[in-house]
Amino acid sequence: MGKIITNERLNEDFFLLKAEAGEAAEKAFPGQFCMLRAGEEYPLLSRPISIFDADPASGTLSFLYKNVGKGTDIISRMKPGDELELRGPFGHGFPVHMTGRTALVGGGVGIAPLYLLAKRLAERKAVSGTAADGLTVDVYLGFSGTPVLKEEYGAVCDALTVNIGGFVTDDVDPAAYDTVITCGPEIMMRVLYRKCLARGAGDRLWVSMEKRMACGIGICKVCTCFTADGTKTACKDGPVFRAAEVFYDEAAPGAEQEAGS
Ligand SMILES: Cc1cc2nc3c(=O)[nH]c(=O)nc-3n(C[C@H](O)[C@H](O)[C@H](O)COP(=O)(O)OP(=O)(O)OC[C@H]3O[C@@H](n4cnc5c(N)ncnc54)[C@H](O)[C@@H]3O)c2cc1C
Repeated sequence: MGKIITNERLNEDFFLLKAEAGEAAEKAFPGQFCMLRAGEEYPLLSRPISIFDADPASGTLSFLYKNVGKGTDIISRMKPGDELELRGPFGHGFPVHMTGRTALVGGGVGIAPLYLLAKRLAERKAVSGTAADGLTVDVYLGFSGTPVLKEEYGAVCDALTVNIGGFVTDDVDPAAYDTVITCGPEIMMRVLYRKCLARGAGDRLWVSMEKRMACGIGICKVCTCFTADGTKTACKDGPVFRAAEVFYDEAAPGAEQEAGS
């Protein structure tokens, strides 16, 4: 349990909540999530929400979320001082030891886990210096409505591109990057993977799979993903996977022709 510190509506879609989280704030790793629930009316199952930001010094975690149903609606109506039940952090997060040119591509509320990643990479650069490992981080955010948190994302990356109402995947050239990391609707991530494959960069893409989840710890198998290596759980084995592992059914351009010839 942790007290809510702030719970702010940012635009027609997005809310930003900050809560006391104790040790979870120290353990939190970019790409991980917490299972949230609150109040007596809440649905039986807690809801998975990505860690947007973590501040170990104050023992707080922040979550960027969209009100889409009963659970998130209850959370959206909570006030500072209300108690939030928060379990986690869970899951395997993003790679963080990459060097070279890195792109982070988020669509809709899929932008949420990319902030902590960009922040941690910016902190790493501040310590090691860009020249030390050639790390640059470009962030691409796609919104269908009013964009949010542009200044915050802009402050933790080298270049920020914001797409409003179009396809954020159109703005990214995967061949220009050594590592590409994405979170958003599955169709958006598949389009980006197809683009990576077409540019010979299929192995550079990592995706965060937002499957429906129940337990959050790999027991109930609700979030089973079919992968190139058999079935895995998005909550424990993921949510972050190599795109090639979970989108193995996407053929590289020309592959069908080669197979048939
Ligand atoms: C690892 C992970 C991280 C996530 N991070 C965030 C986040 O940072 N911010 C955020 O707003 N949401 C995030 N989600 C999605 C979030 O869990 C769902 O929106 C939430 O569970 C909906 O609960 P509800 O009771 O409000 O809606 P429900 O009444 O349960 O569902 C309402 C609608 O939302 C859809 N929905 C429910 N769960 C999901 C899901 N997992 N993925 C896609 N659509 C779903 C349902 O199909 C339905 O149309 C994440 C999901 C996962 C698995």
